[in-house]
Amino acid sequence: MAVPYGRKSRAKSRMHRAATMKYAPKTWAACPHCSEPKMPHFACGSCGAYKNRQARALAAE
Ligand SMILES: [Zn+2]
Repeated sequence: MAVPYGRKSRAKSRMHRAATMKYAPKTWAACPHCSEPKMPHFACGSCGAYKNRQARALAAE
């Protein structure tokens, strides 16, 4: 018969959480157009450039 395992202690669950949910910095790449940090495979948030073309209309202009 299966033995029910005991509840994990607070320390154990916190240890697990600390190990697995480490702060992972988001990967950012500098925009080649305006050198602002932008997410890779996304149009730049500040100038809207993607792959040497204007992919997104600018909100300011
Ligand atoms: Zn840009």
